[in-house]
Amino acid sequence: MFRNAKNVGYYMIGKGSLAQLDEILAKRREAVKGPAVFFFDHFFTNSDLPKRLPIKAEDITVFVDTTDEPTTQSVDTYTAQVKAILAGKSPCAMLAFGGGSTMDTCKCVGNLLTNAGCAADYQGWELVKHPAPYKIAVPTLSGTGSETSRTGIVCNEEKNIKLGMNSDFTMFDQVLLDPDLTKTVPRNQFFYTGIDTYMHCFESITGSYRNSVVDALSEKAIDLCKRIFLSSDMMSDENRELLMIASFLGGMAAGFVGTVHPISAGLSMVLHMHHGLANCYALSVQEDIYPNEYRDFMTMMERQKIDLPSGICAHLTPAQFDQLYDASIVHEKPLSNRLGENYREIFTRENVIGRFKRM
Ligand code: ZN
Repeated sequence: MFRNAKNVGYYMIGKGSLAQLDEILAKRREAVKGPAVFFFDHFFTNSDLPKRLPIKAEDITVFVDTTDEPTTQSVDTYTAQVKAILAGKSPCAMLAFGGGSTMDTCKCVGNLLTNAGCAADYQGWELVKHPAPYKIAVPTLSGTGSETSRTGIVCNEEKNIKLGMNSDFTMFDQVLLDPDLTKTVPRNQFFYTGIDTYMHCFESITGSYRNSVVDALSEKAIDLCKRIFLSSDMMSDENRELLMIASFLGGMAAGFVGTVHPISAGLSMVLHMHHGLANCYALSVQEDIYPNEYRDFMTMMERQKIDLPSGICAHLTPAQFDQLYDASIVHEKPLSNRLGENYREIFTRENVIGRFKRM
């Protein structure tokens, strides 16, 4: 069986391109009569960004609390909130201004506006049946690749699993990349999130489920990441633009990760750790599985003066270690992508818990 792969419909890139959002949105307002729904990372609550945007009186603004990553519960709550204001109208567009958490929230709420039920019903592959409203991504943090990926990742606390709504309908229809928007990101956050692209891509390219398009995208994104994170300043004007491109390419290559992401998912579920930071901890104990990437990653951290304080699992109970193991080992596809079908023989409970204890 061959996969029929979809990419993002439109993209605009360049310093200052945000000024053209008005033009993009005007076309959507002509096509559909309903309001536009703007999702902002709560970081922008008191910033001037919303004031600079073409928001009309009838539009809906939602500030997404990104303290924790999106959960089935948070997505259901935002969906109910938006539905109540829409009162049966269809939005002309849904827009996301933020990083992965905000973009994924927008993507998942979009699916739930046109598909009955709740977020948990659509965690998995090809479960979304009806197209979502038109969606526009404006990343203000680069690295997760959510702007181009076909998933919206949600933590399901009840089932102790972090799993996305994987569907062509989850994808954004338009992406706008303006590197001016990442100027004010704190350095540590810029690194932890940005390096996610590097992780997605090396996991993909060292795995066994591959195709040459995904390889080409991954190779380019990896090159860009090395250029950015091995330079003297990852946040220079040029590097911020390059990271937006790397993230964009990385999102298209995502889908077939390896052993970093499953361990990272365990940390997000049990310790509520953000994805990028959790990835860094996950790779920090996989020097045997990804020796070259581990070495490069350590050099990048040193060069950018990023710290990764140790001892994060020092006070956990045996039950919590079991929960960490369970929330990691459940990711069969990525684990077998790197370790083969018998991944459980390598990643035994003892082996995996030992890794968590070293973090
Ligand atoms: Zn990731």
